Formats: sequence, structure tokens, C-alpha cells
Amino acid sequence: MSSDLNEISFSDSKEGVMPLSDGKVISNYLESMFRPDDELKELLSIAKGIIYADSVSLFLNTDGSMRLRYSTDEWSRVLPSDKGLLNVCFTGKKPLISSDIDSRKLDAGYLKKDKISSVIAVPVLDGEFPLGVLTADSARYHAFSSADREILETFSRQIVRIIQRERVLPQINRSYSGLKILHEESSTLLSSLNMDVIVESLLSGAHRISPSDIIFFVSKGPQFEIVAAKGLRFPDKKSFNIKGTLLDMSVKNRQAVYISNIKNYRSPILPFKTDISGSAFILPMLYEKTLLGILVLMSDNMDAFGPNQRELLEVLGNQAATSIANARFHAEIERLAITDGLTGLFNHRHFQERLSREFDRLKRFLEPLSLLIIDIDYFKRINDTYGHPVGDMVLKGVAGIIKKTVRNIDVSARYGGEEFAVILLGTDARGALNMAERLRKTLMNAKFTIEKESLHVTASIGISTCGDGSIKKEEFVERADKALYHAKQAGRNRCILWDEMLCRE
Ligand code: GH3
Ligand code: MG
Ligand code: MG
Repeated sequence: MSSDLNEISFSDSKEGVMPLSDGKVISNYLESMFRPDDELKELLSIAKGIIYADSVSLFLNTDGSMRLRYSTDEWSRVLPSDKGLLNVCFTGKKPLISSDIDSRKLDAGYLKKDKISSVIAVPVLDGEFPLGVLTADSARYHAFSSADREILETFSRQIVRIIQRERVLPQINRSYSGLKILHEESSTLLSSLNMDVIVESLLSGAHRISPSDIIFFVSKGPQFEIVAAKGLRFPDKKSFNIKGTLLDMSVKNRQAVYISNIKNYRSPILPFKTDISGSAFILPMLYEKTLLGILVLMSDNMDAFGPNQRELLEVLGNQAATSIANARFHAEIERLAITDGLTGLFNHRHFQERLSREFDRLKRFLEPLSLLIIDIDYFKRINDTYGHPVGDMVLKGVAGIIKKTVRNIDVSARYGGEEFAVILLGTDARGALNMAERLRKTLMNAKFTIEKESLHVTASIGISTCGDGSIKKEEFVERADKALYHAKQAGRNRCILWDEMLCRE
């Protein structure tokens, strides 16, 4: 047998290992388990043999008239009419025997190639409801006894069971195709860590289960934000307060809500107006009691969402919720991996990665790139005077000021102990010096209040700029480091540009 776990099979026999994931196999399997035509054929042939009939026929009422379902008559040219014994039996729901058809006014109610002299007709009843009539006939007069009638009635009951099973088959197939959709979508859902892919799969899965207008909100604090929609139109505004809507009720009860006829429901369904007037299904998406979002399906038709569909949608929703929680967890792990724990800035490793990436871009786009290396002056004294924890607070405060002072697109990192680095994108030497000066002054003027103590710090900043990728990344960093060293040498609390440092020397 294959060692591949995905290849679960029905049998491990050599001739025909069938993978369970193959939809056709399941359909074939269901059909091979149950062949109503063969079973009916067999039953009628046995009945014919037992009661010595010329032929036994099953007529079923479809759309108000009798149709032959199967006859043992070898010509199979049995034609029912709307009159005769057949119909009296059907409407009266009682068995009838006629031993002498010729001498009676009432004919058999069906014609066949051979002569019919005796007939038994027994109703095929599903409880009280007539489905059709089972007949046995013979060319002989007085061919059948009441014992034969009883035998035929037994067969009729068995036929009802076959017809009932036959009716269930499409249902089984339907729920199978629902499960198939679930299976397909959940493989995407569970294997993806990308929110867009998950949301797309959730919406397409929901649409396949139940074609309707769909909208998906995620919770953002007390507000709910639309992240995707299919069909349904919504206002430009994307963030909503759901208070007083049906969504609110569903969220508060932590339960799916189904409204089969929106017209009978007074409160609004959604936090904005829609002209959809049929039915609505609202599914709060929870992961371990945390509300992640709400999936809403709406249709112009009443009763558009059957119990089977609602159940499948709930399972799909649960899987999507698990995937969303998973994706968020991974995003958080990724964020932690590139973040400095104390200051919340990027860590040294990520700084190096970003710098490499920006250097590659530099070669292609020829945009200038600048680097600041910032070192707090006499930081050791702060530690020595106030203790390490206060030193930590100051580092956090300095990081906060750096983050606030530079632009959002710039990359601020903790370079080492009390050193920081900022990559200034698309910034030339002049721009970098301006930024560094602004930062230096802001730091100098900042007051750190820690345990009633008021502290001031200054910093020295080394700057290097590269306009064309003509130097290596390592050289670029070294230049900023050298400039920083010079700033320290020159008395601290100052910014020095590597290029200008060279001019001066
Ligand atoms: P300079 O002006 O020459 O830069 O003087 P400095 O005292 O800032 O430089 P030095 O390199 O001598 O000392 C840096 C100090 O920063 C020493 C170290 O204990 C402290 N430090 C490094 N990382 C941390 C940290 O995470 N927390 C705290 N509280 N202190 C740190
Ligand atoms: Mg230092
Ligand atoms: Mg220092």
C-alpha cells in the first residue's frame, strides 16, 4: 500500500486502489450500492413467478397521470389509461381483483399485446399517500386468489421502500457535493496564511454552497470593517457601528441567525441600507470565543438558505475562523521576529536585511539613500546614576522620539545597546543632514520624567549617503560609523556627514 497519507483508499487490494478524494468514485460507490431499477425488476419477476401471472407491472403516478415504471411483460408495451381498474385502485387506495375482465364494464386500465382476462391491482402506498399501483395479470379466467393478492401487497410494501430510498439518493448526492465544496475550500483555507487568500476562499466557498450576495466584516475594536463583498453593494464608508442591527444580535448571542423572510423583520439587518428583501443568514465567526468577523449572506428570494446549506456554511465559517486566527498568529510571530523587544523598533537583523534590499533597489532606481547612526551621549552615566531600569526607560523614550521624527517610509531600528539606525529612503546628503539635525534638537530638548526625576539626553549622529550604488553596503555603514566617531571626538551632541568630514580633513 502507498505510504502517502493523502491516498486513503477503500481497499488495499492490488486491482483498484481508489483515492477517497476522487468525487467520481464516491458517486459511483453510492450508485453501485443502490440500483433501484435492478431491484424493482428482480422483485417483479419473483412476484410473477410466485403467483403464476403472465406479467406483473408497476405503474407510478407522476405529475397526475399513471406511467409505467417497469413491467415483466416481454414486449414491455404496457400502456396505462386514465380509467379502468388501475385508476379505481389508485384513487380508492384499495386492492382489487377481477377474474373475468371481458364480462365486466370495467377494463384493466392498461393495454398490453396479449389478452388480459384476470387482474390483481394493489395500491403502492407511502403511508396514506398513493404512489402508484402494482398489477398482475393473466390470460386465464379466475387466475388469482385472495392469497395471491396478499402476496402482491407484500411486494408492494417492498417497492415503497425502494422508492423511498431512491428519493433519498439525490439528497445524499447533494450533501456529498456540499461536503466536496467544503473539502476543496478547506484545503485552501487551512493551508494558507495569507488573509486575502483566506477571505477569497471563504467567499467563493460560501457562494458555491449558496449562490447569494455575500459580505464579510472583520471586527476592529468596537467597529466592523468590510473586507470583501460579492454581489452586494455597500457605501464608500467601510467602517461601521452595528448597534441595533441584526448583526449586533448575532454577535451578542454568539450564534448564527437566519431570517427566512426579511419583510417580517423590523430592525435593520445591516448597518447600511440595501434593497435586498428576501432572506438573510448571518454567521458570526469565532475562534476560541474571540469574535474575528461576521459573514452575511443575503438573497432576494425568501427561504433561500436551507438547513443543509446553513450547516455547511457554519462549518466553512469555523474553518475560515481557524485559518484567520492562524494567519494572525503567524503575522504576529513574524512581527516579533523582526522587532526589538525593548523599543519596538526593528531589530539589528531586520535592519541589515532592509538595508541589503534597499541597496539592491538603489542599483536599479538610482534614488539616493542615506543612513543615520545615532548614539546616545554618556549613556553609561544614566545607568550608573539611576540604574539600568531607568536606562531602559530612556532608551524607549529615545526610540519613540526617533519614530515620531522620521517619516513613515523610513526604517528605524535599534542598532545595538544605546545605538539606533535610520535608513532614509530617497534622501540625499542635505536632506539627511536636515533630518539628523531635527532629530538631534528634538532629543536635546526632550524631557524624560522617570520616577519624579527629570532627565535630559543628547545624541551624536553619523550620516552617510549613497547616490548610485557605487559602494558596498558594508562600506556605506562603515562611513556612517566613522562619521559618528568623529562627532563624538568633536565634542558630542552633533551631526556629522561622512562626505563633509572628508572635505574638512
Ligand atoms: P558615549 O558618549 O561615548 O557614547 O558614551 P556612552 O556612555 O554612551 O558609551 P559607552 O559605550 O561607554 O556605554 C554604553 C552603555 O550603554 C553601556 C551599557 O551598559 C549601556 N547599555 C547598552 N544596552 C543597554 C540596555 O539595553 N539597557 C540599558 N539600561 N543600558 C544599556
Ligand atoms: Mg555606544
Ligand atoms: Mg553612547
